[in-house]
Amino acid sequence: MTLPHLSEALRTLPGYEPSEGVYSFRPPRPLSANESAYDPLPGITEAVTRAFQTANRYPDPGCRTLTRALAAAHDIPEEQFVVGAGTVALLQLLFQSISEPGAEAVYAWPSFELYPILAQLAGVTSIRVLLVDEAHDLSRMADRVTSRTRLVVICNPNNPTGTVASGDELGRFLSRIPPTCLIVFDEAYYEFVREHDTRSGLGFCPTHPNVVVLRTFSKAYGLAGLRAGYLVAAPEVAAELRKGVLPYSVSSIAQAAAVAAMELQEQISERVGATVCERARVRDALRRTGWELPESQANFLWLPLRGQAPSFAHWCITQGIAVRMFPGRGVRVTVGSAADNDAFLAAASEWRKRLSPGAEDGQTAIHEQKTYGS
Ligand SMILES: *Cc1c(COP(=O)(O)O)cnc(C)c1O
Repeated sequence: MTLPHLSEALRTLPGYEPSEGVYSFRPPRPLSANESAYDPLPGITEAVTRAFQTANRYPDPGCRTLTRALAAAHDIPEEQFVVGAGTVALLQLLFQSISEPGAEAVYAWPSFELYPILAQLAGVTSIRVLLVDEAHDLSRMADRVTSRTRLVVICNPNNPTGTVASGDELGRFLSRIPPTCLIVFDEAYYEFVREHDTRSGLGFCPTHPNVVVLRTFSKAYGLAGLRAGYLVAAPEVAAELRKGVLPYSVSSIAQAAAVAAMELQEQISERVGATVCERARVRDALRRTGWELPESQANFLWLPLRGQAPSFAHWCITQGIAVRMFPGRGVRVTVGSAADNDAFLAAASEWRKRLSPGAEDGQTAIHEQKTYGS
């Protein structure tokens, strides 16, 4: 049978693999996708129900109510916002918008798993710069920027390691990037940052028209299933990018839910604060049982297990817990509900006991495991 000729970029693309067991009949505890552990607030459910009454109508393609709310919340003019069906849709738009023969995109690695896929789909060459001590090596990233570079992505905090770049480092980095190159700050987890040294890309927007900042309603706002995210850019850049958004791609339900979530900012912030507390609790409990892990500023923790990543992830699944595994590098675990976190802590502690019997009470030393930073 002769099949239609599809592009090589598409044919050679590895498909996205959800973590083991996540979509099975009896789903495990969901700690693989950095979702919010909280059910939607009643006010959001009401807004969604109301929006559904007009599901026979197309949504507002300009997302005007949501844009107005965002502009007010950030004190940034409306013309600087572009709303998309999740940050992922906006990332795809950004990669497409720089796609020209020879165009390159520089980003850290490991980082968000979608960057290489979107680059390849857009025909953009990926330049990956390895993390150092699980964090962005901004000076090496700047070294790799050439006249072919059209896009640099800084995932801050970085997914999957949770590390952040300091404001000073970012300032130095930005001064080395030519104004013709887009600098994208992917700040999907920014609401969870408590490190005072960190600076949002939003602070650089007024002085750097090539800076684009991405935020999402999927993580802190707990609306991953509805698909809404946005970017902030210079007005001229936002106007160009807006032309590339698929009309009606942000559903009326997603728009209504996002607006409602912003009106419930206080409750949302309380939930984020509780997740930040849980993050410290899980981190401390892991460290007490001998785990070494970098400081995370996101709603997940990173276990740099290197070669042991697959066996640990598989062990978690046998214990009814889904985590995200990065072969040869580590395992990312979402900070979820207290009950799910406790189940994970029990599984993690049991795994260490089995690897080195007799090494309980926080004395554990797993000889095969390379420690963080080494
Ligand atoms: C989760 C995540 C996103 C958000 O994706 P949405 O499409 O908005 O759900 C973007 N960037 C990173 C690094 C993420 O981890």
